[in-house]
Amino acid sequence: MDQEMSYGGDYKFIPTTSIGSGIGIEVLPDLYSHTIQIVNICLVGNPETKNFVLVDAGMPESANEIISVTEERFGANRRPQAIILTHGHFDHVGAIIELINHWNVPVYAHELELPFLTGKMSYPEPDPTVEGGLVAKMSPMFPNEPINLGNHIQKLPSDRSVPHLPGFRWVHTPGHTPGHVSLFREEDRALLAGDAFVTVKQDSLYKVLTQEMEISGPPRYLTTDWQAAWESVRTIETLQPTVAVTGHGMPLSGEILAKGLKKLVSDFEQIAIPDYGKYVNKNKH
Ligand SMILES: [Zn+2]
Ligand SMILES: [Zn+2]
Repeated sequence: MDQEMSYGGDYKFIPTTSIGSGIGIEVLPDLYSHTIQIVNICLVGNPETKNFVLVDAGMPESANEIISVTEERFGANRRPQAIILTHGHFDHVGAIIELINHWNVPVYAHELELPFLTGKMSYPEPDPTVEGGLVAKMSPMFPNEPINLGNHIQKLPSDRSVPHLPGFRWVHTPGHTPGHVSLFREEDRALLAGDAFVTVKQDSLYKVLTQEMEISGPPRYLTTDWQAAWESVRTIETLQPTVAVTGHGMPLSGEILAKGLKKLVSDFEQIAIPDYGKYVNKNKH
C-alpha cells in the first residue's frame, strides 16, 4: 500500500531568485541543467532515446515548472524513470511530492539521508550567525523539518550503481549533509556534484542574485561537518571531473573546473570554512 506523503510543517515558498532562474543549459547531449530560482535540477538522458532520470526536485512550488521543462525536452507526457536526490535539503526536494504524484516514479537517496526524507529526523537549524552575509541571515526562514515520502523513497543500491543510469555511479560526499551523494560517469568524467561544492558563493546575496562564478565550498549556513565536507571535495578532485553540474551556480568544465577544484582542496579553510558559526570548530585544525 502506498503511504501518505507530507512536507515538513515549515514548508513554504521562498521568495528568492537569481538571474539564472528559468534558464536551461545543455551541458552535454544527455545532460540538461535547469535553474529553478536559485537551485539547479538536472535531466540526465538523451532526448532521442527517451530514457532519462531527474536529479533533484527543485524549490517549493516548482512542480509545474519542472514538469513543463521535462516535457519540452522529452515530449508531452514523458516521465523520468526515476528521481535521484543528491540530498534532502528543501531546495532539492521542494516539488518532490507533486512530482511523485504526477509521475508515479521511484525516488532514490543515500541510506544516511533517508531519516530526513521519511519524517524521522530534522536537519539542523540553518545557522544565521555563520560568517556569510545576507543569505545566511535569511536562512532561518528556510524549511528544515523533514518531509515524509513514506515508501516512495528507496536507498541507492549498495554496489554504487545508479538506477536507470548505467554509466554512472554514486559517490558518497558527506559533510554538507550525512547522506549527500554526487554522481560520476567514468566514460567522460561528467560529475553531478549536488552541494558538495558549488560554483557561486551562496553566502553573498549579491553573488546569488547575479550568479557570479566562483568555485566555493558547500553552502555555509546548512553545512554541519566541515572536515567531512573537505574530505568530500578531496574525493571529487581525485576523480578529475571534466565537467560538473552543481546544485547552485553555472556548470563548469575543463581547466577552470580542474584549477578551481584544486584550489578549493588546498585552500579549503580560507575559501569554504567560515571563520565563525555554530557548526565551526576551528580548534580541530
Ligand atoms: Zn544543500
Ligand atoms: Zn542546495
